[in-house]
Amino acid sequence: MDFDLSDEQEQFRKVVRDFAVSAIAPHAEAWDRDHSFPTDVVLAMGELGLFGLPFPEEYGGSGSDFTTLCVAIEELGRVDQSMAITLEAGVGLGANPIYQFGTEEQKQRWLPDLCAGKTLGGFGLTEPEAGSDAGGTRTRAVLDASSGEWVIDGEKAFITNSGTDITSLVTITARTDAPGSGGKPEISTIIVPSGTPGFEVQPPYRKMGWHASDTHGLTFSDCRVPEANLLGERGRGFAGFLAILDDGRVAIAALAVGVIQACLEQSVQYAKDRNAFGKPIGSYQAVAFKCSDLAVMAETARTLTYKAAWLKDQGRPFKREAAMAKLYATEAAVTATREATQVFGGYGFMDETPVARHYRDAKILEIGEGTSEVQRMIIARDLGLPV
Ligand SMILES: Cc1cc2nc3c(=O)[nH]c(=O)nc-3n(C[C@H](O)[C@H](O)[C@H](O)COP(=O)(O)OP(=O)(O)OC[C@H]3O[C@@H](n4cnc5c(N)ncnc54)[C@H](O)[C@@H]3O)c2cc1C
Repeated sequence: MDFDLSDEQEQFRKVVRDFAVSAIAPHAEAWDRDHSFPTDVVLAMGELGLFGLPFPEEYGGSGSDFTTLCVAIEELGRVDQSMAITLEAGVGLGANPIYQFGTEEQKQRWLPDLCAGKTLGGFGLTEPEAGSDAGGTRTRAVLDASSGEWVIDGEKAFITNSGTDITSLVTITARTDAPGSGGKPEISTIIVPSGTPGFEVQPPYRKMGWHASDTHGLTFSDCRVPEANLLGERGRGFAGFLAILDDGRVAIAALAVGVIQACLEQSVQYAKDRNAFGKPIGSYQAVAFKCSDLAVMAETARTLTYKAAWLKDQGRPFKREAAMAKLYATEAAVTATREATQVFGGYGFMDETPVARHYRDAKILEIGEGTSEVQRMIIARDLGLPV
């Protein structure tokens, strides 16, 4: 058994940590306050090679493993969850579907810029009336045989990276069975380039957290794209998206590990520095034990996350482990950020204290890319229960 990351992975962790500390941390509070998406820093993340990590060199990637991507996400997440999700979604939801299911032509067209972080892609599964139950997709794409185009009508909700200055495409799920044909809905996946007439990006949401991450509702109205923009096999789009989400769940767990680690480090430091009743607050068991619990949460969440990533890198099944890592790490992140805020007392409630931002940012981790309830369902099914 070997619990250590390789020397290469540890060196890379240091490179990403240095970047996060120097280029992201000093600005994270302002981006959060102003709800601004820092395109220049995202481009710099691209120059560092972060967006191309798990993809082959022929498409501009570096051919690293999935574990290395998780290391990068964890390190960004330690200072700023918004930039960590921008990377996670850019790689996992933007580029990965095209890499997994694209034709050679689609890969050559889209991947080099996505891998270089010069462009971002979005992943449009969720709709206003279909989230956990994403099979209930109502967006429709009808093939117009005369023009050889898909005609798309519908709506998507909460789509990350869909409206930035550098967004080049959104991959969406849509029903492609003929209206009124009866039977099982046929769901396919289609690439919609940004700027296509009839594709409108709605104004950004006002969110509890992830203020520097880009999230929009999308509408499609008589939106026409070439037939060749079908991604993967017709009718296999939903199954494909679910497979993509297994990777995404491990990556979301890595975001959670990063924020728990941040809470641990900041709480321990504050417990040493802050005095009450003539002694550092860390000399009181109530505070010291919170720090102990944070350390246990960081260790457990990290172990589950890297175990799932390692299984994926070995080419072994990892669906159950991905669900377990996401479930545990994200629920621990919500607990850890709440407890860290408590350690900081009144200062913990002030926006200039990073734990206040961490607390607001953590909640979505239990919801995005499958809620905690959905993870419990996956685990229960693996146990043979008819849930
Ligand atoms: C900031 C942000 C970014 C996002 N980014 C993206 C993105 O890039 N692409 C994308 O496609 N989506 C994205 N999402 C959507 C996200 O994945 C969904 O919000 C999530 O899957 C839950 O769906 P829902 O909001 O429709 O909630 P619902 O599915 O309506 O769930 C509501 C509640 O009911 C529970 N529930 C539902 N069904 C069951 C059941 N069978 N058993 C038990 N409990 C159940 C849920 O767990 C939840 O607690 C994003 C969301 C947010 C907030």
